[in-house]
Amino acid sequence: MELINTGRSAGGDGLGTLADLQGMADRYAFAGIRGKVADLARAREYRTRLDSIVMACEAGAEAAAIEQINALLSEAGASPQIAAHDGRGPHLHVSRPTAPLADRIAAHFAMGLAWLVVAGEAGRIRSCESPSCRAVFVDFSRNRSRRYCDSRTCGNRLHVAAYRARKHA
Ligand SMILES: [Zn+2]
Ligand SMILES: [Zn+2]
Repeated sequence: MELINTGRSAGGDGLGTLADLQGMADRYAFAGIRGKVADLARAREYRTRLDSIVMACEAGAEAAAIEQINALLSEAGASPQIAAHDGRGPHLHVSRPTAPLADRIAAHFAMGLAWLVVAGEAGRIRSCESPSCRAVFVDFSRNRSRRYCDSRTCGNRLHVAAYRARKHA
């Protein structure tokens, strides 16, 4: 969701520069892989596609989501392999080691959405209910009752607003 949410931020594009993209890459398992200028534009294109997949999931349009996920995995050159290195146990590498950074990131997030769909959990994807926030998140709560992307900021801000409105009235 992190890549998608850079395009939904109220404070401008969170993927404005190559440094933004590199920062995201380094927070995931892509540390050490350098992005090129071309990766930035490609990452933004992939972001639009991922956003549309998430919208399809949230709307319950599973067939459309599956079609788009498969197309994206294929275009990003996803080629899953089990790897074990640097003392880490077996884990999945979604892309080839030579794939460009934008393709790797897109394949990684598309695979995450694929797992949700095949697990029958695509319905856990939703948009934050705060009127001032457009972020999407995956609700892992047991009773699927989560409403905000972040209860400390969005949930709380709203509580404060509701409290003030009540007091005012
Ligand atoms: Zn690895
Ligand atoms: Zn939010």
